[in-house]
Amino acid sequence: MRVLVVEDELTLAGQLAQALGEEGYAVDVAHNGVDAHFMGDDERAPFDAVVLDLGLPQMDGLTVLKKWRAAGRGMPVLILTARDNWHEKVTGIDAGADDYLTKPFQMEELLARLRALIRRAGGHASAELHCGPVMLDTRHSRVTVNGQAVTLTSHEYRVLDYLMHHCGQIVSRSVLIEHIYAQDCDRDSNTVEVFIARLRKKLPPGLIETERGQGYRLVCPS
Ligand code: CA
Repeated sequence: MRVLVVEDELTLAGQLAQALGEEGYAVDVAHNGVDAHFMGDDERAPFDAVVLDLGLPQMDGLTVLKKWRAAGRGMPVLILTARDNWHEKVTGIDAGADDYLTKPFQMEELLARLRALIRRAGGHASAELHCGPVMLDTRHSRVTVNGQAVTLTSHEYRVLDYLMHHCGQIVSRSVLIEHIYAQDCDRDSNTVEVFIARLRKKLPPGLIETERGQGYRLVCPS
């Protein structure tokens, strides 16, 4: 899953990027509203969620959010609002925010809210995603097969996480690349094949199908 962090306080932006990275997200960071708007508006590189501070230089967060929504960008957005400003929360939610947190906040709470937003956007009610014998626990970035823990690298986890959030759907290589790498990463499309090959060795046979010329599909036994 790929997350955009928009925060002009450099220390907080760094803390957010680090915490989200440790949770297994690919993270891009913007420090002002103009960059944020540009990055979130690129439909070829959609984000799975955005953490958006409202008080931003160049273009305020509320304007950024309104512009995205007006352009049809529907990714989940969690806004960060100033303390004691209930008005900002109301305006933010009316402008299309899916959730909010008041500064200062606990990182654990932000991570939990973000997981819930991404889960709901994918139509999943639980923090644990199941596909046959495979269970992926989004709270602890953990995967088990028949109850046995499976060790995955962070990129393998991101690939499986995205496929499990889109179970039964064909996911193209380019879509996987967009969702597992941050923007400034060296994106080699061949690496997706490598991650899939490694996942296949670690997971039950037949779980990940290759749709020739189209991409991959996670097949969940009903
Ligand atoms: Ca700010």
